[in-house]
Amino acid sequence: MSFSREQAIEDLVLANHILSNEGILEAFGHVSVRDPDNHEHFLLSRSLAPQFVEAKDIMTFDFEGNVIGESDYRPYAERILHAKIYEARPDVHAVCHHHAAALIPFSTTGVPIKPICHIGGMFFEGVPLYDDYDVSDGMLIVNSREGERIARTLGNRRAVLLRGHGVIVVGGEHQRNRHGVHLHYDQCGNSISLNATGRSKVSLL
Ligand SMILES: [Zn+2]
Repeated sequence: MSFSREQAIEDLVLANHILSNEGILEAFGHVSVRDPDNHEHFLLSRSLAPQFVEAKDIMTFDFEGNVIGESDYRPYAERILHAKIYEARPDVHAVCHHHAAALIPFSTTGVPIKPICHIGGMFFEGVPLYDDYDVSDGMLIVNSREGERIARTLGNRRAVLLRGHGVIVVGGEHQRNRHGVHLHYDQCGNSISLNATGRSKVSLL
């Protein structure tokens, strides 16, 4: 299914609001979509809490994270992680990076995320862990080399955990990404509950 640029921006604004309302995107998370008019560009808000994002805040970037066109807005520092995933994965049309509390323990304990009910099946390939930070950047993803390493760790899967930081979820189109992010969060919440029972080996896979 293809979208016009206007539809993509409208849906991107809506995705910001939904994911913020659900507590998945807090003040610092961000969600983007590939530009339907130029697949070597992507659309992402200026640096702004997602709940406040409007269409006028959406900026356009290339695969190096450069701003396309004139703008006085300040972009998100971590936009390069979006850029390098879009560059490496032509099939990806949406990227969400967030720091939902339910996921952080999975990034530091080595406990794998596993689907425990049918709706989590979209993550059947597993969720790899990125742990190759440029320490000088304080665990923020702000340079191209690190963005490329994260894209390689993600590989062909739908999500990658960043140790002690958060997660990146990708989708083939942004509706699917919205669902994917939400499902991932729910799955992790369920997995935490399950692990608390001491029966963490229970899973569909
Ligand atoms: Zn982050």
